[in-house]
Amino acid sequence: MQPFVYNGLPSRVVFGQGTLSRLSEELELLGCSRALVLATPQQQQQAQDVVKQLGDKGIDVYAQAAMHTPVDITEDALQRVKSLNVDCTVAIGGGSTIGLGKAIALRTGLAQVVIPTTYAGSEMTPILGETQNGEKTTQRTLDVLPETVIYDVDLTLTLPTGMSGTSGINAIAHAVEALYARDGNPVITLMAEEGIAALGRSLPVIANDPSNIEARAGALYGAWLCGACLGSVGMSLHHKLCHTLGGSFNLPHAETHTIVLPYAVAYNAPAAPDAMARICRALGCDDAATGLYDLGRAVGATGALAELGFSVEDVERATEIATRNPYWNPRDVEANGIRRLLTDAQSGRRPQADNGGEQ
Ligand code: NAD
Repeated sequence: MQPFVYNGLPSRVVFGQGTLSRLSEELELLGCSRALVLATPQQQQQAQDVVKQLGDKGIDVYAQAAMHTPVDITEDALQRVKSLNVDCTVAIGGGSTIGLGKAIALRTGLAQVVIPTTYAGSEMTPILGETQNGEKTTQRTLDVLPETVIYDVDLTLTLPTGMSGTSGINAIAHAVEALYARDGNPVITLMAEEGIAALGRSLPVIANDPSNIEARAGALYGAWLCGACLGSVGMSLHHKLCHTLGGSFNLPHAETHTIVLPYAVAYNAPAAPDAMARICRALGCDDAATGLYDLGRAVGATGALAELGFSVEDVERATEIATRNPYWNPRDVEANGIRRLLTDAQSGRRPQADNGGEQ
């Protein structure tokens, strides 16, 4: 018997096709009647359409959301929130837009309805990462957890195939680390395995047929489950490495997750056999690390950090940063192993079992 603590997160999820049409009803359930719709500049038109759809409840669009939630953009958006006297935000987009909604909620207490259009999973988490003066700080508070999440499969059809694959594997990474989390529990384990299986089945289909509704529905369902994993339990080595590579080397979020995951899994495999068995069962493969590596190739993702501009010379500094304040990890985080892991990820060679002489 494994003792555990399970903490359910209070959010309402509406899932389906065409569910965007229920937005007005969902605002009413929250007692809201004046919405500011948030988006990136790329999704401004979509946000305008949402405002129009909302009629009297759609007050305006703020379409300046950006990667890593810069505080100066949040402050600019807060001026609009005040001057327009809105009582909620509607974020339509990926993690960048959802991050802006969370940052506004943190400072104002405004309710959030979120309509995710990628698979990153931020909508299901009480986590907010913000950047100011080039520094990223992350906090965990229920104040930023969105009240309502509307998943509409139709909105994911426009997600380009490349980003669908990497965003989906970014989601899988949350579930993989949930399987060996120190604070894991049986409910999250079920969600994690199911999330990996749903994405593992759907992403290769999407890569060849991006408008396949069944596959899009499967991927979004998997993304929800994986986001819930990220929101509920602690992450380990893989997320630490990706934060290091994103924060200090400016590597792109989802692509970096996709490349690093098989190597982080190869590193942790000897210390987390049950998690590895579940990943294999979910993906229908014999080895978790190579199964994830092959999934990356099946979705046409870049396989080497070198292709993102990360050089052999960068390995040493990344090793030093990633091992300085390591997150809890099922296997000890030691510099030689991390150097090997990053060297492999830099070149993109097929992951090898790494027992490090430890287990
Ligand atoms: P993103 O939100 O930055 O979106 C990338 C681009 O794709 C944007 O231009 C966006 O407008 C566009 N896009 C999004 N959906 C689209 C669609 N369906 N069709 C066409 N274009 C679309 O990317 P992301 O990977 O979703 O989010 C990454 C950010 O989210 C990072 O800053 C990351 O740190 C953060 N994040 C936070 C959490 C959390 O729990 N706090 C979780 C995951 C990610």
